[in-house]
Parts: sequence; structure tokens; C-alpha cells
Amino acid sequence: MNGPRKLYVKSFGCQMNVYDSRRMADVLAPHGYVETAAAETADLVILNTCHIREKAAEKVYSELGRVRRMKEAAAAQGRRLVIAVAGCVAQAEGKEIIRRAPAVDLVFGPQNYHRLPDLLARAERDGKAVDTEFPIDDKFDHLAAPDRAAIRARGVSTFVTVQEGCDKFCTFCVVPYTRGAEISRPVQKVLAEVEHLAEAGVREVTLIGQNVNAYHGEGPDGRPWPLARLLERVARVDGIDRLRYTTSHPRDMDDALIAVHRDLPQLMPQLHLPVQSGSDRILAAMNRRHSRADYLDVVARLRDARPDLALTSDFIVGFPGETEADFAATLDLVDAIGLSGAFSFKYSPRPGTPGAEMDDQVAEDVKSQRLQRLQETIDRNQAAFNRRCLHRTFDVLFERPGRHRGQLVGRSPYLQPVQVDAPVSLIGEIAAVTVTEIASNSLFGALVQAQQPPVSALLSAGA
Ligand code: SF4
Repeated sequence: MNGPRKLYVKSFGCQMNVYDSRRMADVLAPHGYVETAAAETADLVILNTCHIREKAAEKVYSELGRVRRMKEAAAAQGRRLVIAVAGCVAQAEGKEIIRRAPAVDLVFGPQNYHRLPDLLARAERDGKAVDTEFPIDDKFDHLAAPDRAAIRARGVSTFVTVQEGCDKFCTFCVVPYTRGAEISRPVQKVLAEVEHLAEAGVREVTLIGQNVNAYHGEGPDGRPWPLARLLERVARVDGIDRLRYTTSHPRDMDDALIAVHRDLPQLMPQLHLPVQSGSDRILAAMNRRHSRADYLDVVARLRDARPDLALTSDFIVGFPGETEADFAATLDLVDAIGLSGAFSFKYSPRPGTPGAEMDDQVAEDVKSQRLQRLQETIDRNQAAFNRRCLHRTFDVLFERPGRHRGQLVGRSPYLQPVQVDAPVSLIGEIAAVTVTEIASNSLFGALVQAQQPPVSALLSAGA
């Protein structure tokens, strides 16, 4: 394909997909594609799909209906709009997507997007192209690095994939099937990417992976490095002031990783650590490989290392066999930990996973009612955490203009968005902010004046 083309990528689901979408744009940039925010003007629309949430595939088909109408409108104007479906639904459904939605030109899985230019050429030549193989070559070796302008446009806080795939096989989850076995990127390649981002002005990096704390990438010494060591090394990259990592499995929180929460000032005091259920019976049925006590023990060790750690989690309600007593144990766990937030979902069977074959599926109305109760409990804990931030002062990294004139939005160390009246020149800067107001779980703050030294007020989890 020649000449400038407009690319629209819509990302569904996790941060991994957001990262992948950006890398797809990077792969296509040298081939003349520029990103647009207006799908109807695009020459190529990519839906980067997620299979983890309820009715994911159905949502993709309904979105495809909308894009098909755009394609027809473009054709009426003599323009060709190419439709591509990427990500985990593409991996799981393959050719079925083109059978059900014939307007789709291209289907490719999460491990194949480095081949996008070839796939587009194939689709143009043959009409359609499908690529859902797990290639033996490493896609990261073939990805073009984004230019400075693209990095700056994406903001001062960004993701870097360090690990992909999962070997845990939780019985509700499709990831081991759609993303494949665990692989970790070598340390030097991760460092090269972080250095490139830092040179373009990125201040905060979140290392991401489906099971990021199982990271075991090859170090410069030729030996596998654990995540703790990678974090320590990335923290030494000039310009990187803040680090985070997600998503972790409780089983892989080893002592070294817990220790970096104490010893590495760049590592922000916030961790997303999915637990899924508070009941041992359900955790076993989910094949989570940890008990409630194991989880609480990890949390206690983490808080020993970093008392102000803000913890968030994931929950699934209504997993097959979940009784009222199992569910009560989940509610109790949320209160016991004092979460600063959580994602919660009703269980929905994923074809091909063991959970989908289990007999004792929970009725839909029971799931809905439990979800509501769980969300009320999470909201109450989140509100309590946020209330403890009121009148505290901490550093905020300013990311973008706010909704109102003169306002910026930044992130607290605990990952909460904070809205502050501040000049645009502060975007990309870290400044001390005092939280002055909390409304519907949104934090509002005021800049600490230059003459007042910034106070790094740490929150005590029990405060
Ligand atoms: S740990 Fe479990 S839930 Fe997480 S990606 Fe792996 S299989 Fe899925």
C-alpha cells in the first residue's frame, strides 16, 4: 500500500491491548499510516478485541455492524475501508469472524501483528487474510520503535510489555489459549524500549504482562532475571521517576519482589493483585493455586514492606458452585483487606474452558444480585481509602488537561486521578498537591506553593 492512509484502532479490554494497539500503529507508520480519532474517515479500522469480559464476542459483532455501515458509506464515496479484527476474540474465533461478518477483511491474533503490512497486502491481493498461528519468531524483534512525536502524543505515562501469555490455567480464563504460554522479553530489549521512551519525555512506566510477576527474561548475564531485578534496573533509566507493574498473580509474589516495594522509591505504592474469590472452595474450583490465607499472607507481607500500599483486585461472582456462604467470604475478604478499588464481574462461561463444562452454574439473577452487593462493598472501601487522602499532600504526575479550563489531571502515587487548577506547562511534571475535596470518588487538589516544601505524606493503611 502506498501514500498516506488513515488508521483508526479501537482497543477493548486490558492495558495489554492498549499497548498492542499502539504498537500496531508503530508497525504501520513506516507504511504511510497516520492515526485518526474519526473512524468514519479511516482507510483501515482495527478492532483490537478482548475475550475476558462477558459477551465479548457478541460486543465485537455488534461493533462490526457499525463499522460495516461505515465501509458501505465509504464505498459509496469511492473509498475503500479495510476492516481488521485483532486481539483475543480474533485468536479464539479465527475464520468464524469472516463467516459471520463478511465485511471483515483481516483477522489476526495478538502474536501476529508485527506481520500487519504483509497481512494487509495479502488481504488486498486475495480478498481476505487470517493469521492466528503462534509464530516461532518473536514479534517484538519486528516492531518499529515509535517516533518522538508519537510517544509524546501518547503521554508521559505509558505501558511496556515485558511478559505475555500464562501457564496458570485458571478454569474460567481463556488467556492461556488465546495468548499462549508464558514468555518474557529479554532485559536488554525492555531497557532499550524504556530508554527510548524516557528520551522522548516519558516519566512513568508500567511494566505489563498477563502474569507479569512470573517474569523471567534473560538478563545481560545470560541468566533469567526475576521481575524484582528488572524493576531495579529500569528504575536506573534516566528520566524514569515512577514505576508500576501489572497484572500479578498472588503465587508469584516472591520475597525479592515484596522487598522492592520497600526499597525502590520509584516503585509507586499501589498494586493490582487479583484474588477472584474469598472462598477456598471456589478458589480451588477456579484452579487459582492459592488459598484465602495465602492471599492474606501476601498482603500482610506487602504491607509490612510498604505500609501505605494501595491494593486493588479482581473478582468474579457466581462461579459454578458458589454458595451464599462462599460469596459472604468474598465480601468479608474485601473488608479484611481494605481495597482501594476493584474490578468485579459476573462469571460467564468461556467456550473451551473447564468452567464452562461445570454442572452447577449459578442462576443469572443470583449473579446480578451478588455483583451489586459486592460492588457496594468495594465502593464503600474505595470511599474510605479516598477519605483518608483528604488534606494529605503527595506528589502528582500531571498527564493531561482536565475537563474544565485551567484544570489539569494527574495521578497520585496510589493511581487515583487528581484534578488540580494548574498551568499546562506542568503537564509532564511532578508536583506536590494537597487533596482539598473528594466528590463521587474523584479527588480534587491544590498545588503546594513553591515556598512550602512538598510533604511526602504517606497514608497508613489502617488510618
Ligand atoms: S493467572 Fe489465571 S486469570 Fe490470570 S491470565 Fe492466567 S489463567 Fe487467566
